[in-house]
Formats: sequence, structure tokens, C-alpha cells
Amino acid sequence: HYDVLIVGAGHGGAQAALTLRQQKFEGTIALLGDEPELPYERPPLSKDYFSGEKTFERILIRPAAFWEERNVDLLLGRRVVSVDPAAHRVTLADGSSLGYGKLIWATGGSPRRLTCTGHDVKGVHAVRTRADVDTMMGELATTNRVVVIGGGYIGLEAAAVLSKLGKQVTVLEALDRVLARVAGEPLSRFYEAEHRAHGVDVRLNVAVDCIVEKDGRAVGVRLADGTELPAEMVIVGIGIIPAIEPLIAAGAAGGNGVDVDGQCRTSLPDIFAIGDCAAHENGFAGGARIRLESVQNANDQATIVAKAIMGGDDVYSAVPWFWSNQYDLRLQTVGLSIGHDRIVMRGDPAERSFSIVYLKDGRVIALDCVNATKDYVQGRALVAGGIAPPLDQLADAGVQLKTLAA
Ligand code: FAD
Repeated sequence: HYDVLIVGAGHGGAQAALTLRQQKFEGTIALLGDEPELPYERPPLSKDYFSGEKTFERILIRPAAFWEERNVDLLLGRRVVSVDPAAHRVTLADGSSLGYGKLIWATGGSPRRLTCTGHDVKGVHAVRTRADVDTMMGELATTNRVVVIGGGYIGLEAAAVLSKLGKQVTVLEALDRVLARVAGEPLSRFYEAEHRAHGVDVRLNVAVDCIVEKDGRAVGVRLADGTELPAEMVIVGIGIIPAIEPLIAAGAAGGNGVDVDGQCRTSLPDIFAIGDCAAHENGFAGGARIRLESVQNANDQATIVAKAIMGGDDVYSAVPWFWSNQYDLRLQTVGLSIGHDRIVMRGDPAERSFSIVYLKDGRVIALDCVNATKDYVQGRALVAGGIAPPLDQLADAGVQLKTLAA
């Protein structure tokens, strides 16, 4: 039995454990996860861990000794398969069970798989875990051509790393622009051009027919129009499915994620959910129930839950932020651009340092800042305050955003 049992030892789970101890929680805590490694940072998996610039030790969230000193039991390589909310117990894949006082569900999601022929053969990879990336790295020496399916952040980051490593990379996107679900058109076009300039073959509006295999290994991708793209490696980055089956089976409300309230409580007693798997009402999305897939969201929701367990009444209202590194471009995003009705450009994309400001009803709701950290830092107040600045000043890169926030 643990006073607090955290299921999922990723960003949210680790942050929940360490915030509980920071808040002087004195009960027992277990951090249980199905991956064998100590909690580690996921963003480098498609960035500087994949490129070999960072070792695994450097992406650990905390060193092993930290968890021991804080008296957090790490139950790694263990998987929860069912939850009994009435008995306050979970059952693990090995048949054993554990009791809990409070349960924090922080399981993230599993990569969405292709459903076409060949989707599961060797050489087809998702980018979600260290194991995924280690497998890919092990195959790089014998890989020259890579097809990346999905033009979202993860696919594009992987493409950037691989093209820098000298691989011949093709990115396939089903929609008419990359980053279509997360960014405005100018940013999509900028990244599309950037990848092409680095020799990446970006193909839009394409449908995949199947993975072509030979002797159980991928040798290419066939498109719906019959085109065959030979490849030694195929990377699939088409989103995640939240890992919530045990909670839903136990009766929790939810669908695309587990529904949670402002303190990340699910509809089941003493069970919280945080991070990628938590469907919450977000003020920066006009109050809509959404899931956010970001380190910020996982960490901030973890903090809210730790405080709630300590008797606090803070509710989740953090300003969303995110980043992406591709080539020498550092993108920093603040706010959520969903539902914007106007875009204002600050600076010139040709200069490789600019910001795109998203507005709705005259108010700033988000910024995408490329190599423009000052705008990112100062723009946060515009988003947080729902400020409606004069558009001519907003568009003038010479005007500092902090002067518009007052
Ligand atoms: P996770 O960190 O995914 O942790 C969940 C853990 O729970 C996993 O280890 C999982 O295996 C485990 N688990 C699942 N089910 C069970 C079960 N039943 N029993 C036991 N364990 C279970 N975000 C950013 O903000 N910036 C970025 O640049 C960025 N880049 C990214 C790059 C990549 C390649 C990936 C994959 C993600 C990136 N993200 C980025 C997103 C960010 O990593 C996630 O939003 C964050 O990890 C979410 O934290 P979490 O705790 O919800 O889930």
C-alpha cells in the first residue's frame, strides 16, 4: 500500500512526486512506470538525444540518488492493467496488486500506429520512448533513405536530425501543409521551405497505401497514387492515443483522454489524471475540454495535484508553452492559436528571426517565436492578460512587446 501511487514515470509522474516532497508530504510515494529507465525527458528523443549530442544520463529528470533521498519508491518496468476504485487497488501485468490512498494517473499516450499492410514490420519506428530511439540509432549505420510519415513537430524534428546526419529524407504529410494542427499557415510554409532548403523532400496532400516489405523488413513506402519511395527506415509520427483504458474500464468519464476538473480530479474517488492523457477545460482554449501534449502542461498539472493532495485549492490556469528545435531554429510558442481570426507578423522570416502573433476578437491569444526569445518572454503577458494592442505597433518588430502589455 502507498499513500500516493503514481502510475506513469514520465514528466508528469516525476514532477508530481518531487512536488509532493517539496510540499513536505510525509506519506509513502511510489512512482510506477512500464519503461525500465529512471524518469527521463522525452523532448530530446527527437532532438539532441537522437542526434547523439546528449547522452542518456544527461536527459534524466533527476539522478537515481535523488529519488532515494526523497524516499520515492521507483517501481520500474511494471505496468498497471486494471484499477478497482472501490477497493483503492490496482492490478499489475504480473498479476500482483497494490493498494493506494490517492492515485495519480500520468500515463501519457501510445503512438498512433498505421493500419496499412506492413505497419508492424522491422524498420518502421515510432518516436515515443528511449527504446524506440535506441533501436533507430542502432539502424542508422545501414540506413541511407528515410521516409517520415507525418509532418508534425516530432516528424519534422526527426527529419532535421536525419538530414543533418546526411540521410536522404522524405516527409509525407496527408494535409496541405506541415504543422497544420498546431500552427498558422505562415509558420507551416516557413518550416516547409526550411526543410526543402536542407534537401528534405517534403510531400504534401499524400496518402500512404502501405509499407513495402521484404523478408519482414521495410524497404519502402507505397503511396495511394502508386508511387514507391524506397527506404531503409520509416518513421511514423502521426500522434498519440491517450493510455487510459484501465481508468475508462473502471468507470472514469472520458473519451479522448480522461476527463478531469480544475484540480485534475477524475470522476473516480481519489484518482487524479495529469499530462498528455488528461482532458481538461482550458481557459486559453476558450474553456474547451482539450488535451495538451507538452512538458509545461504535464509539470503544471502535476504541481496542481500535489497541492490538492496537500489540501490546497489552486486550480489549473497556467499559460501554455512549448518549444521545438529544428536545424538552427528555436521555436518557442506561448498560448494556444486554435480559433485565431487574425495573424500579425513581426519581423521577416527571411531574416530567420521573427514572431507570428495570433489574435482572436482583437486580443492576443498566442505567439510562435522563431529565434526570437525576447518576443516569447515578453509576449507571455499579452497572452495571459488577453491584451488587445494596436495592430500597427504589434507588427513593428522595433516596438518591444512589453510596452504593449501595460
Ligand atoms: P509521459 O512523459 O509520456 O509519461 C508516461 C509514462 O507512463 C510512460 O513512460 C509510459 O510508458 C507509462 N505508462 C503508460 N501506461 C502505463 C501503465 N498502464 N502502467 C505503467 N506505466 C504506464 N513537449 C514539449 O513541451 N516540448 C517539446 O519539444 C517536446 N518534444 C517531444 C518530442 C518527442 C519525441 C515526444 C515523444 C514528446 C515531446 N513532447 C514535447 C511532449 C512531451 O514529452 C509530453 O507532453 C510529456 O512527456 C507528457 O508527460 P506525461 O507525464 O503526460 O507522459
